[in-house]
Amino acid sequence: MECELCGQKSERLKKVKIDSAVMSVCPKCEKFGIPIENMRVQSTSPPQKSTPPVFIHQIKPVQKISGGNHPKSFRKKKDSDIENLEIVPEFSDLIKSARAKIGISQDEMADKIKEKRTVISAIERGSIKPDIKTARKLESLLNISIVEKI
Ligand SMILES: [Zn+2]
Repeated sequence: MECELCGQKSERLKKVKIDSAVMSVCPKCEKFGIPIENMRVQSTSPPQKSTPPVFIHQIKPVQKISGGNHPKSFRKKKDSDIENLEIVPEFSDLIKSARAKIGISQDEMADKIKEKRTVISAIERGSIKPDIKTARKLESLLNISIVEKI
């Protein structure tokens, strides 16, 4: 092994940094460079990047329940009424037969309760349930009862 700096043969070459080059040098030339060992020691502590503190805002979704958790706001009676109402299972038959009884067409009935005929048709087939509002209209029009309290 030869010293890369002076060319002298040496058994104990040390790696040092001279300028920006790393060279294997003999003990005599060591002083010209910075020992790698020391550099390693210096650089062992990893660059402590001061990571900015991560702010984890625990944003809980604010559930806006109308009159839900606010003690001062009362539910409107009308709302709670609707919540506890259910369309009877046999609504489609009741509507169909009641409509036949008073002798109006689906079109006429649709017109009277301001609904689409396709909706009436679907209700009578039982493929859709009328909402409470529609059901109420049907009840008064057909003189039937298809809304029940749960
Ligand atoms: Zn040397």
